[in-house]
Amino acid sequence: MSPQTDGPDDGRLFEIFFDLVRLGSEPGNEGEVCAYIREFCTALGFAVHEDAAAAATGSECGNLVVRVPAGTFSSLPPVILCAHMDTVKPSDHVIPFDLGDRFVSMSDTVLGADCKAGIASILATVEKLIEAGGPYRALELIFTVQEEPGLVGVQSLDMELVDGKWGVVLDGSGPVGEIVIEAPSQEKLKFTIKGRAAHAGVEPEKGANAIVCAARGIAGIPTGRLDESTTSNVGLISGGVAVNVVPESAQVECEIRSMSDERLEAERERLLGSFEKASQEMGCELVVEASRSFDHFKLDAAATPVHYLARALKESGFEPALAMSGGGSDANVLNSRGLQIAVMNIGLINAHTKEEYILKDELTGVARTVTSLAYMAGEEGSVRA
Ligand SMILES: [Zn+2]
Repeated sequence: MSPQTDGPDDGRLFEIFFDLVRLGSEPGNEGEVCAYIREFCTALGFAVHEDAAAAATGSECGNLVVRVPAGTFSSLPPVILCAHMDTVKPSDHVIPFDLGDRFVSMSDTVLGADCKAGIASILATVEKLIEAGGPYRALELIFTVQEEPGLVGVQSLDMELVDGKWGVVLDGSGPVGEIVIEAPSQEKLKFTIKGRAAHAGVEPEKGANAIVCAARGIAGIPTGRLDESTTSNVGLISGGVAVNVVPESAQVECEIRSMSDERLEAERERLLGSFEKASQEMGCELVVEASRSFDHFKLDAAATPVHYLARALKESGFEPALAMSGGGSDANVLNSRGLQIAVMNIGLINAHTKEEYILKDELTGVARTVTSLAYMAGEEGSVRA
């Protein structure tokens, strides 16, 4: 690696990461992180745009789109680097701590490396690019709100602000080196079962038990991993008012994910069929609300973001490997908007738990890779003419 494409200074990267994890950022409350990024990027001379997602999502701020001009004259469109600003709860008042080889949270919270390791790597990289100069590619930084509650912010992203055609989402648990090129569609189903209340001891015959109906509906379908590309889960259940009352109402919420929309549809029909059958048998009424959360995407192994990310990982000392993920990310939505976006795993361990940590070597490796990507993609015209 040339000195120009060494990653950012470790100390500076860690300082930015600590600054970020100390800021409150539970979903909807991304204002402090947004202000930090805005100030950081404005000081470097970049144009910062905020879209109208605050109004659409109820967040304190919208999504940010930041333009980083190329290091030397170039007519190539910018490469997109995307990370989300929100963190899962509890993540207020995080006290980050250096445990030697890793960073952890000393407070009763998650660390928030998901996804502040991604934001810190991007910010440290662009600062380094400005300092080092040279033929790096123009970048378009996208920072989204409310990714964690189900890709809410990115769905409102103002695509008029986006000039890039391809890029990378920095998110994703698992070792650095993995490039996620496929992730499933997700559909949510909410079943509301209306039975008939009755005194459980005096005249149960008059009742229609909504909870038993829900249980029969659930018992009629398989859950968990259904095949290598399809999963199904019963995630929430509620119902009843008292132990001596035949319950009048019950709610069950499920999700189905699949890499194949055909399989997803078949599972949805099976789920609906099971609840309909139970409702008929039990004399209950069934109300179903179904909604699509996000769409499946699959990138070709030779797609531009995969090609460059693999090269940048290799140059940074990692063994690139292509992977499938069962989770959704901002990449699902960006790909469905016509862009080509791969997901880079950023070394998050135990994400979404208070045991979350990130290895310092992995964090510096992510930043090094992003820096390398910016320079390599700057050569795109000559390499892939
Ligand atoms: Zn994340």
